[in-house]
Amino acid sequence: MTCVPDATLLDTLARLLGPKGFTRDPADLAPWLTDWRGRVHGAAAALLSPSSTAEVAEVLRLADKHRVAIVPQGGNTSMVAGATPPADGAALILSTRRMHAIRSLSAEDNVAVAEAGVVLSDLHDAAASIGRRFPLSLASKGTATIGGLISTNAGGTQVLRFGTMRALVLGIEAVLPSGEIFDGLSALRKDNRGYDLRQLLAGAEGTLGVITAASLRLVPAIGLRAVAWVGLRESQAAITLLRRLEAATGEAVESFEIVPDEGLALVLRHIPGTRAPLADAHRWNLLIEAVAPAGAADPADSLGTVLGDAIADGLIEDAAIAANEAQAESFWRLRESMSEAERIDGLAAKHDVSVPVSAMPAFLDEGRAAVEARFPGTRVLAFGHLGDGNVHFNVRAPIGVDDRAWLERDGKAVSAFVHDMAGARGGSLSAEHGIGQTKLADFARTAGPARLAALRAIKEALDPRGIMNPGKLVPGPRAVAQGGRSQ
Ligand SMILES: Cc1cc2nc3c(=O)[nH]c(=O)nc-3n(C[C@H](O)[C@H](O)[C@H](O)COP(=O)(O)OP(=O)(O)OC[C@H]3O[C@@H](n4cnc5c(N)ncnc54)[C@H](O)[C@@H]3O)c2cc1C
Repeated sequence: MTCVPDATLLDTLARLLGPKGFTRDPADLAPWLTDWRGRVHGAAAALLSPSSTAEVAEVLRLADKHRVAIVPQGGNTSMVAGATPPADGAALILSTRRMHAIRSLSAEDNVAVAEAGVVLSDLHDAAASIGRRFPLSLASKGTATIGGLISTNAGGTQVLRFGTMRALVLGIEAVLPSGEIFDGLSALRKDNRGYDLRQLLAGAEGTLGVITAASLRLVPAIGLRAVAWVGLRESQAAITLLRRLEAATGEAVESFEIVPDEGLALVLRHIPGTRAPLADAHRWNLLIEAVAPAGAADPADSLGTVLGDAIADGLIEDAAIAANEAQAESFWRLRESMSEAERIDGLAAKHDVSVPVSAMPAFLDEGRAAVEARFPGTRVLAFGHLGDGNVHFNVRAPIGVDDRAWLERDGKAVSAFVHDMAGARGGSLSAEHGIGQTKLADFARTAGPARLAALRAIKEALDPRGIMNPGKLVPGPRAVAQGGRSQ
């Protein structure tokens, strides 16, 4: 159990962090108390914004001593309310927004050292300034931070080639709950000194400490890229197409995203300035990006050949390759606006599931039919990272039904049903968003005793007083029986 911070502790923190780093003003706190989806509302005793690793260390030392809960927060774009404080108002939010320096950039080592509060698109710009790139991107890139991306082991649209955030983290600097600083920033490509604390902190969702900086892998800048929009009838054909593309282009294909016709229609309806790339509507659409370094053959040539052959033999129905950068960006905007268009359209029971890539087409078709049969009138909208075997399998309320009331009443049952469908196919209920608060109950229900015991043992060892982000990721012993409450 954590405690409510007393006035003396709050005064000490206010003096330590100064007016820029400490506030209790309800207006300052308000934007940080609700999750991005607007579904989970919390409260906090104060918002702390330290400006250095030393200040974070002092904050955690004091919080540990007084047994006060700390909720780390970056851009607050978590899809699972991971950065939203509990409703009791006793926690302190620790925002990394003032820790936004890029400490170094090396084209020779292909490494950037960035502080936790650096926004992803700023890292993209910094890497571009030395002829490199950071190969992870997602629709929240203008807000999501390096600390949040590592803590959720974020994925995005280039996982197919470069893996998730874990694969791009070479080193981490973090403050452990005791206040000790773990200096693991050295960007060695090889380092076998036993247990890997960096990888333990990646995906820990702020439950084991606060990441303050990271060494990140850079890769050569893109010389040429080809972006295609493809229309097809059968999702199974998409996997055949992906394998053909790999055979023809090697590692050139970085993104392979799927959007159903109803998803494209939502974007066209709600996002100003968007238009359909193909003349006709198609049951499924694919967004494909292939890249090549400067001086190499244009990937548009091989992409065009494979797509042309696929149309000729009936595998796909139509395709367009963007004629220029502006058109390429407009194709990407359609994909990246999916979450926003869906949010504008109404509430949905949202899921971020993965299954083996080869099992995904059947999952899309059979899963949809199963959900719509079990919950009559509901509408499934599944889109996302098909090439990684990961889709956002969202279920919307029946037409004419109050979506908030429906979600309150049926949301949990719908989610359990979808998560169990993925589990039955050897899949995961969280491909890239993490567990946070909103998936804790189903995670506790399905994780199995060995995984739960290991998770709790690690948590207990590194955070014995349970101050780090309570209520997220780690189900308490009673949660398995009671449906997910954390210890
Ligand atoms: C429109 C949209 C599209 C998205 N698309 C994708 C996608 O394609 N793929 C994907 O993986 N995610 C996606 N997300 C989810 C989200 O952007 C990621 O989870 C992102 O990694 C969160 O970064 P953040 O800085 O906003 O972290 P926050 O939301 O602030 O925090 C996320 C978690 O990390 C913890 N945390 C934050 N900073 C630190 C730190 N410095 N040290 C320790 N713990 C910390 C928090 O406590 C919380 O548990 C999307 C979100 C939106 C809104």
